[in-house]
Amino acid sequence: MSQRLYVATSSQGKLRDFRTAAATHALEIEPLPGLSRIPAPDETGTTFAENAALKAVYYSRFAPGELVLADDSGLEVDALNGAPGVRSARFASDAGLVDSPDANDNTDVWNNLVLLQRMAGVPLPQRTARYHCVLVAARDGNVLHSADGSVEGLILEAPRGTGGFGYDPLFFLPDLNRTMAEIDLETKLSLSHRGRALAALLPKLGL
Ligand code: IMP
Repeated sequence: MSQRLYVATSSQGKLRDFRTAAATHALEIEPLPGLSRIPAPDETGTTFAENAALKAVYYSRFAPGELVLADDSGLEVDALNGAPGVRSARFASDAGLVDSPDANDNTDVWNNLVLLQRMAGVPLPQRTARYHCVLVAARDGNVLHSADGSVEGLILEAPRGTGGFGYDPLFFLPDLNRTMAEIDLETKLSLSHRGRALAALLPKLGL
């Protein structure tokens, strides 16, 4: 019988990544039941690890006895001293451009615009960046295990591709000569921060 994991995320992009993983690892990965009715906790941590743990502990209390997985992830750009980092989802709203989440669900577009504007004039070799992801598994309010993963890339000067989500159209993978938005979900999972974190976490859970 496959193990069921509940993922505490309402991000459709993250859910698609996890569903792809479920198919590869023979897991049952489902959104946490009733997630849309649960008020989101304040992500008060200053690191991905703190925020992922806070979310996993909080949400696991809503599914007694179940294994609940939380993801905290984001983009670290070297030329911006690691920004947007833990503020990746709220980069444009922190800049005062939009509410977060934007009522028309254009948050990703606004975030990418702010990134391009902050990076204006930075030459390609200095546009180095990485995605980082921390995954934490919890049950009944207790952290069981955590794992992280990252992937290196470059921030392009204009978006390319229509796949993925978030900053993917600007995140270029030199080895593949493609952006994260130009590769299929299986390829993304095999090399992405989220895929690597999941591959590191599953053995710790005996899966
Ligand atoms: P979180 O929900 O606080 O973890 O925010 C994660 C944010 O980081 C997302 O809203 C995206 O902006 C960005 N991000 C994380 N993972 C990815 C990815 O795989 N592709 C593109 N953007 C990502």
